[in-house]
Amino acid sequence: MTLEAPSAAASGHQTGERPNPSLLRLAVRGAVQGVGFRPFVYRLAHELALAGWVRNDSHGVEIEVEGPRERLETFLARLALDKPAPAFLQSVEALWLTPVGHASFAIRESERQAGTSAIVLPDLATCAECRSETFAPDNRRYRYPFTNCTHCGPRFSIVLGLPYDRPATTMRAFELCPACRSEYEDPSSRRFHAQPNACPDCGPQLASTEPDGSERAHGAAALADAQAALVAGGILAMKGVGGFQLLCDARSAAAIAQLRQRKRRPAKPLALMVRDVAAARELCAVSPEEAALLASPQAPIVLLRRRTLPGRLLADGIAPGNPRLGVMLPTSPLHHLLLEGIDFPLVATSGNLTDEPIAIADRDALDRLAGIADRFLLHDRPIARHVDDSVAWLMSGGPQVLRRARGYAPLPVVTVREVPCMIATGAHQKAAVAMSLGRQVFLSQHLGDMETPEAHAAFERVVLDLLALYAATPTAIAHDLHPDYPTTRWAQRAASPGGGLLGRAGLAEGNLRLIAVQHHHAHLASCLVENHGARGALAGPALGLCFDGTGYGPDGTVWGGEALVTPDAAAPGDFLRLARLRPFRLPGGEAAVREPRRIALALLHELEGEAALDRADLPALASFRPAERSVFARMLATGWNAPWTSSLGRLFDGVAALLGIGGGAGDGARVSFEGEAAMALEFAADPRELGSYPLPLVASVSPAGRAPGQISSTSFHELDWRPLIAALLDDRRRGEPVSRMAARFHQALVDGGLAVARLAGTREGGGVGQVALSGGCFQNRLLSERLATTLGAAGFRVLTHRAVPANDGGIALGQIAVAAARLAAN
Ligand SMILES: [Zn+2]
Ligand SMILES: [Zn+2]
Ligand SMILES: [Zn+2]
Repeated sequence: MTLEAPSAAASGHQTGERPNPSLLRLAVRGAVQGVGFRPFVYRLAHELALAGWVRNDSHGVEIEVEGPRERLETFLARLALDKPAPAFLQSVEALWLTPVGHASFAIRESERQAGTSAIVLPDLATCAECRSETFAPDNRRYRYPFTNCTHCGPRFSIVLGLPYDRPATTMRAFELCPACRSEYEDPSSRRFHAQPNACPDCGPQLASTEPDGSERAHGAAALADAQAALVAGGILAMKGVGGFQLLCDARSAAAIAQLRQRKRRPAKPLALMVRDVAAARELCAVSPEEAALLASPQAPIVLLRRRTLPGRLLADGIAPGNPRLGVMLPTSPLHHLLLEGIDFPLVATSGNLTDEPIAIADRDALDRLAGIADRFLLHDRPIARHVDDSVAWLMSGGPQVLRRARGYAPLPVVTVREVPCMIATGAHQKAAVAMSLGRQVFLSQHLGDMETPEAHAAFERVVLDLLALYAATPTAIAHDLHPDYPTTRWAQRAASPGGGLLGRAGLAEGNLRLIAVQHHHAHLASCLVENHGARGALAGPALGLCFDGTGYGPDGTVWGGEALVTPDAAAPGDFLRLARLRPFRLPGGEAAVREPRRIALALLHELEGEAALDRADLPALASFRPAERSVFARMLATGWNAPWTSSLGRLFDGVAALLGIGGGAGDGARVSFEGEAAMALEFAADPRELGSYPLPLVASVSPAGRAPGQISSTSFHELDWRPLIAALLDDRRRGEPVSRMAARFHQALVDGGLAVARLAGTREGGGVGQVALSGGCFQNRLLSERLATTLGAAGFRVLTHRAVPANDGGIALGQIAVAAARLAAN
């Protein structure tokens, strides 16, 4: 379809004379499709009385405009200044040519070319105009749950292919009615080329069902039926934007207990959905910046500081012991309508069983969620791919993303230089994959933990989906160094000759190079890449304080409290392990993650030897049965099934257990998810306490074994936690409050981090002036903020994560950066 505008000469702007006519050809790259960019160009050209055309191509938007040179320059300037809000321009290439005599300005059909790099926009929350139309009784979309326009609505979750046109979305089955079609074809409409455009006459419809799939109600009655289920204290499974959500009354302790039990999620915090910012303010303190983040088009779950509330406003079981609540606003007209008819906040959590990916298809949701939900609210717009709700918060004055999915994925991170096309398979927990193309790295949506066959299947789907969407042919696959991660095995199978993984998906199977990247090296690189974009290219060496849970170490130990230096922040292909946390044993290996008491025992064993096994004064240790005690005693004495670890995350667990906090029993013995004990320790800390414990940085011997890219080092240091634990136990004996001991532990880590940075700043340490903070422990606010402030005050440039998570959700981006640097070096 081509739309003709009145010609420049006929539009009345023309005064007869055409001084200095020229032709300007533009190639615009960035998020420019599906955001109303072409109508904007059309209107701008019309306003400036310029002739020519605009069209989408596989890489972005192409424009040809002809007219007086000054007006063309104005056009070029206003293209960037006045663009539609959701659009972002990555680059605009301009070419001045001889005029060809265009008579009018037209929007031309999309051009399909070989290869594609156009940016798919994320799903955006309902804009203010669509929201008011949805609630305007005289509007033809009154109470229509699928209202959208080029400023809002589903994108990534409905795209089947590129360029982004309706036949390449899950809306292809819905034929536009005449009224919707005229909006779709009208360049002056907000719905011009809004691919998911729909109305009650032609678009998707709601249905409510029993858990067995039998229909209860249709259309508006289905919405009322779903609301009735919530009011009655039931659990509703609702097909949202990027997948199913489980919803229930957030005031009902019984409903929440049932949801937790059925979902097998005993303790992890649950998120809330409230009607608007005012409703969020009833539950939490909300700063203007937090309000803006809540109401942004990304509309993430924002972690807000909770108010002390009477129990009737919010049940206790939502986020036990957590001073923050995850709160989001409605993300679609369906959510707005659902909440409009309800006067209480809802618990809103992913429609899955713990460790499984979120359900997107009706049949699959009914199969998997029938045992959890009492009622289902479905609709007939298919979801092309799952996109969970994102999680973010305000940190040191700016938004920081903790889980990157709806609203953010798949926007690319832009690199300084061109990068070969590669895939990175990420790590194991909070998995996300990445693909590089030109100067863009597309980081996938959050995939969850790779613990179940369903999660593995989702992982493979997402890798193949990214490649297919961009018709990309990778030359290399980067993966974690851990030989047993399913994501590593997948990379190896994909790269083996005749592996067939890519071929089966109809993709080119080339000679794929495999590039293994050490986990904390990837953390460091991930933080560096993100900071290139924001403040220009980084140069010189950089220190990474990688404070983390678990990462495979090439020396046979589990890494996780690492200080790594890369000689070139712009190309972090190599690293030097400058320092680590002094290792301790992990009795039973990874099983110790769920039992902080084992780590407490291991720490004490290092400090006191066999005598530690007889201590009965610590509740977490007193919880061992005699048989368990003797098994762990043997593990610690012989090292059998008790690998060494330098993990800071595990040190947090061990300290929480020594202090007897965290976990279901509240004694620090056992936890139900990784990080639970560490969170309890953070929340226990009194931020006014400024005391510390000794955590000396001492010279050590060079460790055996090296990771790919690791430079051998003669000087190697350790942060020795033994004096810290001894001082903490002294405090405990003296009866110091837990709040004070927990704060002193945090301050000791800050002091330790500063000592390492000072060492890195010396000539011997490499003269490092910039420090990147990455790893799961930086989800700890107290640690993050204090360390960043302290390093900044000491004169270091501090690099932190913003758009990419500090946890393992950012690993794939770092793997791409390391692999690119290694490929460029040889
Ligand atoms: Zn809209
Ligand atoms: Zn319609
Ligand atoms: Zn990690």
